[in-house]
Amino acid sequence: MQRLVRAARSEWFDWEDREERIKDYIDLTNKLIWQRQASFLAAALLAAFYFDPFSTIACYIGVFLSELLDQILGARAKSWDGKDPEIGRRYLRRITFNTVVSAGAISVFILNIAWQQTSGGHFTPLFFLFSASLFAAMYNSQIFTVLLLRLSIYGATFVAIAFLDVLRYRPELSSVVWLEFFTILFVLYFIADTSAKFYKNYQERLEQLKLIREENERTKAAYEIKSQFLSTVSHELRTPLTSIKASIDLVNAGVLGEVPETLKPPLAIAAKNGQRLANLIDDLLDLQKMEAGEMDFHFEAMSVNSLVKEAVEATAGYAEKLGIHVTTIIPATDVMMNGDHDRLIQVMNNLLSNALKFSDEGGSVQVRLESNGNRVRISVEDEGVGIPADARERVFGKFSQVDSSDIRKVGGTGLGLNISKQIVERHKGTIDYESEQGVGSTFFVEFDQVQQEDTGETGSDPLALSA
Ligand code: ADP
Repeated sequence: MQRLVRAARSEWFDWEDREERIKDYIDLTNKLIWQRQASFLAAALLAAFYFDPFSTIACYIGVFLSELLDQILGARAKSWDGKDPEIGRRYLRRITFNTVVSAGAISVFILNIAWQQTSGGHFTPLFFLFSASLFAAMYNSQIFTVLLLRLSIYGATFVAIAFLDVLRYRPELSSVVWLEFFTILFVLYFIADTSAKFYKNYQERLEQLKLIREENERTKAAYEIKSQFLSTVSHELRTPLTSIKASIDLVNAGVLGEVPETLKPPLAIAAKNGQRLANLIDDLLDLQKMEAGEMDFHFEAMSVNSLVKEAVEATAGYAEKLGIHVTTIIPATDVMMNGDHDRLIQVMNNLLSNALKFSDEGGSVQVRLESNGNRVRISVEDEGVGIPADARERVFGKFSQVDSSDIRKVGGTGLGLNISKQIVERHKGTIDYESEQGVGSTFFVEFDQVQQEDTGETGSDPLALSA
């Protein structure tokens, strides 16, 4: 009993909970309107056919009007922001009032049928009442006061119907009238028990939702701190690293004097690892920016042919160093798309440098640009180590290298493809690959193509031209 009182009290005084419950209640009431209306109408037609049609229709109109009250309330509550506790309490009062009116109207409708049935028990009205009670048990668990009120009104109607024939006929205890009476009591217990179970389920769901929300908040806070930390550290590392790299480059270039032969190998290693560290920091900063939504994109109409050429030229030195032959296949006419040139070059560099670094010396890489009029596809095909079939999830993940021993053979951060995927998706494009271990891989990106005449205007939104 104490628990019931506490449940009812919390609805009126525990603000946070009440908002959630009221919204859930109103949402569900509005959602189920047609289901309720259909069953009320079916019941009314049935009753009008077998019983007095005038009183039945009059009662049905009462039920219909009470439904309207709920709809008006639902429409008003839509704009409620859930903040002001006084408005919340007002809604609760309105819901409580509507409940009394609606449960009262339904009970009168059912009592009217029971009253007219003078023989053969009250199967029809009792069954209607049973359905209404079960409906309340299933869908009114959000507000305990409402559930209790509705069920109490239906319970009283059940008892009234049960007593109707007892009072009318004053039968023997062994008659079927008393049997119906006791059966009704049993059904009442069943409804109370079912309602309690539904109510408990709803409470548990609310509790779980609360826990998930709290957990989510904690995760978000931790994630933000991590991002902040990573971003600060990356920035702090980048400044001294830039001057270290510049100094080493100066020494290596011989600007500060002849470099003794013995110092050349360690200085070359220092320069190479300095570059690696700089790449890692750049990737980290890009990732942070992308995740924080702070990476700026400057979309403009551009030639994909030129983009591909530029990217291939930029990696030509690297390809030569690794002894890999790169061929480029591009159509004679310009294929245009809307994109951020620098970011797309970043994607191309990533795909190309991966193809090169995962290829064997003397291998070959083919870069192909294709267009079907609507879409443009750039693919980078290599004959390198390939990617195992079960690594698909990891390839585009963060810090993920399919074979972590790769890192010893070829450098990398495991961030490049993740960043590329995010860049491609910001262009409303797709990135994917096909690969066979030991045979090679083909990575490809696809974007919407824009037609030549569309490219006069340069928009900042990729959809502006492709739409
Ligand atoms: P990394 O900096 O390690 O290259 P990426 O995100 O660019 O990071 O790539 C992730 C992983 O995907 C690589 O470490 C490698 O295991 C696999 N991978 C990417 N491209 C290729 C390729 N062309 N051939 C084989 N494996 C590749």
